[in-house]
Amino acid sequence: MKLFLFFTTLLLIQADEKRTKKLIEKITGKPYKPELELVASHLLNPTKKIEPEKKLAKPIEKEKQEENSKPKEIINYERVFESKDFVLKVRAREFKQGEVMFVRLFDSNGASSSNNLKKLNLKWLGKDINLNLVNQVYSAFIPINPEMKVGTYDLEVRNNEENSSYKVCPIAIAKTEFYESKSSEKLKLPKKFAPSKGEDTTDYKFIEECEKLKKQAFESNNEIFFKDNFNLPAKIKKITSNFWAKRNYLNKKGKPHGGVDIRGAKGDPIYAIQDGKVLIARPMYFEGIFTVIDHGSKIYSLYMHQSETLIREGEMVKAGALIGKIGSTGMSTGPHLHLGLKIDGALVNPISIIQLKIK
Ligand SMILES: [Zn+2]
Repeated sequence: MKLFLFFTTLLLIQADEKRTKKLIEKITGKPYKPELELVASHLLNPTKKIEPEKKLAKPIEKEKQEENSKPKEIINYERVFESKDFVLKVRAREFKQGEVMFVRLFDSNGASSSNNLKKLNLKWLGKDINLNLVNQVYSAFIPINPEMKVGTYDLEVRNNEENSSYKVCPIAIAKTEFYESKSSEKLKLPKKFAPSKGEDTTDYKFIEECEKLKKQAFESNNEIFFKDNFNLPAKIKKITSNFWAKRNYLNKKGKPHGGVDIRGAKGDPIYAIQDGKVLIARPMYFEGIFTVIDHGSKIYSLYMHQSETLIREGEMVKAGALIGKIGSTGMSTGPHLHLGLKIDGALVNPISIIQLKIK
């Protein structure tokens, strides 16, 4: 009897062990190993407490990561000026040197594009500002010249028909701390741009041709082609040179940097930042393979030093369209995209229009 009991117990234990192993394999999806018992222990033994921290550890980390990978919320500032006949809204990423202002006119009921508004126009620094319909609202993009003195300037709303001033809207412009290098830097330029002493490798004839083409392009005056926000032209890993940065090269003060340099590898894609018409897509002396897109109302985006252009002059492009590839052509020290923005003759920070909420 004793012997019988012993064998039965042994058999039961073995059967139990077999079941446990099978269960562990089922839970973990792996062939049984003693260490897997630990992994599956809380499921095998539901009364065992699960450490809450351990259970939550993953989702919190994931949330954190997602938050970090999200682009930062872009804040725009808006100044509102009201009169009995209209409301003027002036928006900017910042009211500072080198930024862009987005101006919109509504009538006093908040409606846009009404007949009352047709007779209004704007004046800024003594210059007439064209109003264009963007999403059925009379709008204008006004550059704040990077060299403009800090101070308060009047944006004037005028009556076209009576040639009189309706309202003066003061706009305070603050200082932008543009980068300025203290020490002299060395530049590794292609030989053509760094000839040895006494040698002149400059192709003056080609430079003249390029200047003529650019001048012609910037004389266009089309209606605004777009109605949505601007896009980034490439994946931004690093901006290697900021807008209006002033560097010293070989103890000489260089010209302020007219755009932003976005680091990339040769062949990386470049996208149009906005809908528009391609005015220039060809090699130029300093700019290398160069693209100018006209977005209407004297707003132009400029893309320099490409390894290849994928569009043709005269073509219409959509925001986000693949237009070329990153390279190091022209006066460049390594593969990057120089992105420029010109509005009504002034170079401004292209990132300021990309971060502007238009819609
Ligand atoms: Zn540049």
